[in-house]
Amino acid sequence: MDNRVIYSVVVPLYNEELVVNASYRRLKKVMDTTKEKYEIIFINDGSKDNTRKMAEDICSADENIKLVNFSRNFGHQAAITAGMDLALGDAIIVIDADLQDPPEVMLTMIEKWKEGYEVVYGKRTKREGETFFKKFTAKMYYRFLKSMTNVDVPVDTGDFRLIDRKVCDALVALPEKNRYVRGLVSWVGYKQTYVEFERQERFAGETKYPLKKMIKLACDGITSLSYKPLVVAGYLGALAFLIGMVSIFISIIKDIIYNTEFVSFMMVIEINLMMFGITLGCIGILGQYIGRIFDESKGRPIYIIDSTVNYGASEKKYKISN
Ligand code: UDP
Ligand code: MG
Repeated sequence: MDNRVIYSVVVPLYNEELVVNASYRRLKKVMDTTKEKYEIIFINDGSKDNTRKMAEDICSADENIKLVNFSRNFGHQAAITAGMDLALGDAIIVIDADLQDPPEVMLTMIEKWKEGYEVVYGKRTKREGETFFKKFTAKMYYRFLKSMTNVDVPVDTGDFRLIDRKVCDALVALPEKNRYVRGLVSWVGYKQTYVEFERQERFAGETKYPLKKMIKLACDGITSLSYKPLVVAGYLGALAFLIGMVSIFISIIKDIIYNTEFVSFMMVIEINLMMFGITLGCIGILGQYIGRIFDESKGRPIYIIDSTVNYGASEKKYKISN
């Protein structure tokens, strides 16, 4: 039999001891139906619970399962990046471990890939078991992002998607550190389509995306695809300048006509506060970009690999770092 891997399923894991076994069983069941050779790559993103041991046990019983252990928690996007770097397949599927993305949808993605599409992303028509806050902010964010960039980023999609080897190679060649993978997939282009699915409730455990990580991801999305916020900062500055000029002009006229003080003491403080707010806000926007430029200039790797399992002869190669 041809030993070439056709499908690589990339599964990031962060403190997922409650789902890793169920996830493996369900993914295996679905991928076995393809009757083609596949690998499942678990990326253990510095889990502090029992995830590593459980994934290692799965690997020792099934050689199609590979495990990459990071030296610490580098984040979901870094984990996906590592999966793509190490994937051997002709098609690479990224899926969350918690079974919120139904593994059965992978088969529909594979059908589309066989029709000739090079990117098949999962579009969420419904999201079960997530808070109103998360659903609302996500909905608003994806629309905001779309309006901020010229790249056609599809709304209501996460990282659950299939990409062709060509697309994977193009992504791997992008050197940037603060990665917003779903945006980069849109940016590289190729023939893209989508399949619709209903996002399920998490199989077990809690979300590993607290608000802080969500905000970081959201900022990465905008800064990696657009510099419009900087332009908006410039407009705000111009607007503030204009308001200032007009109010000075009115003050002078009023002073001349009525010989009184036009602007009250409180108003001076309020206007100053507003102007400070605008200035600091703009510096904050600048900071978002400068921080990322700083990250890029340091040239550190996106992740560091501590160890791998089931990589055979190439195991050593991946041991130090990417
Ligand atoms: N994840 C990760 N590193 C992190 C956070 C999350 O590898 O720092 C993984 C997590 O184990 C899961 C996927 O990324 O497989 C998506 O995370 P989660 O389901 O918690 O996010 P949500 O669906 O709540 O947005
Ligand atoms: Mg989830």
